[in-house]
Amino acid sequence: MSDLDRWLGEKLACLESQSLLRRLRVLDSPQQPVVLIDGRQILNFSSNDYLGLAADDRVREAGMAAIKEYGVGAGASRLICGTLRPHAALEDALAQFKRSEAALTFSTGFATALGAVPALVGSDDVVILDKLCHACLVDAARMSGAAMRIFPHNDIGKLESHLRWARAKHSAAQILILTESVFSMDGDLAPLREIVELKDRHGAWLLVDEAHGVGVLGARGRGLADATGVADRIEIQMGTLGKALGASGGYICGSRKLADFFINRARTFIFSTAPPPASAAAAAAAVTLLDSGEAEPLRDRLWSHIRMLASAIGTDPSSAILPVRIGDERRALDRASALLEEGFLVPAIRHPTVARGAARLRVTVSAAHTAEQVASLAATIRRVRAIRE
Ligand SMILES: *Cc1c(COP(=O)(O)O)cnc(C)c1O
Repeated sequence: MSDLDRWLGEKLACLESQSLLRRLRVLDSPQQPVVLIDGRQILNFSSNDYLGLAADDRVREAGMAAIKEYGVGAGASRLICGTLRPHAALEDALAQFKRSEAALTFSTGFATALGAVPALVGSDDVVILDKLCHACLVDAARMSGAAMRIFPHNDIGKLESHLRWARAKHSAAQILILTESVFSMDGDLAPLREIVELKDRHGAWLLVDEAHGVGVLGARGRGLADATGVADRIEIQMGTLGKALGASGGYICGSRKLADFFINRARTFIFSTAPPPASAAAAAAAVTLLDSGEAEPLRDRLWSHIRMLASAIGTDPSSAILPVRIGDERRALDRASALLEEGFLVPAIRHPTVARGAARLRVTVSAAHTAEQVASLAATIRRVRAIRE
């Protein structure tokens, strides 16, 4: 055994002893409500494919047509010769959907954050973020070299005191606030109106990550910023094309100058091969389904499923993410295994995705589920009560 493998073996054993070891699960089916795992059909309540667009025929067709016309790989970064018509069409569709002047796409949502934040702020500046922000926002803030201040989840008072500190003691050149709209592991919502008012009062900029808001909230699924009526006051709206939009990639929406600046300064945009044209075309088809209203029946079904499950779990129907809080990692794993025995895939979310001792089951629903499938999970949750604290 090599020295490295010995060291890795010790680290993995240590994770296992704390119930923190993770393993990959392979699906032999598309991303859909019934998935095939190890030859077993399992009801999937763990996906972020909230509208069932990942395997939607209209979205698949758009991807396949783009492969036929443009091939598979983009061949170069966007700035060299990798910007193909589907990339430009997707950015036009996104800007129209989000009613922003411009949009710019990246290869993933993670890469979007890592490109955008360090382009905007550096060592003279301050980044203030919610304690529950996604790892990509935390890493982006760290990479920027700006002074970082974290406020307790949705704690507006503490956000304001950080803003005062940044202006007074630190005399920051720029202040950038980062938050999610729908929090990815709790499913609750940021108080966007209050945050927008505060950032305006203190002359800060705001980036809102709508990864779990778009497709779910707001008119036609434009997101929480739209639902709250503050979309045009947010400098940088970010999101992913890989969740409710069923494809792959990330984006920012904002002013034309913002997009032009990232084209010149966002390193994950500049120094990376453009995404496959088929994935851009598939994402554009999904955006168009939402924008045109054709996806409204899917959104209605999603919301009826959200209400049904939220009442079974005893949580707020705020989004398609319905956490069942457990606490202890071992117990969360046991309950996820018990559900899997019954044929339901519901993941146990543990450290480092959430804090130690804050393990939970993360139930997500989709428009693609049938009402019967949702009712059967609801009944199992009620019956076993295994997954209630
Ligand atoms: C999933 C997620 C991302 C990353 O997007 P990808 O396209 O999957 O890389 C960013 N932010 C939040 C809040 C997310 O949940």
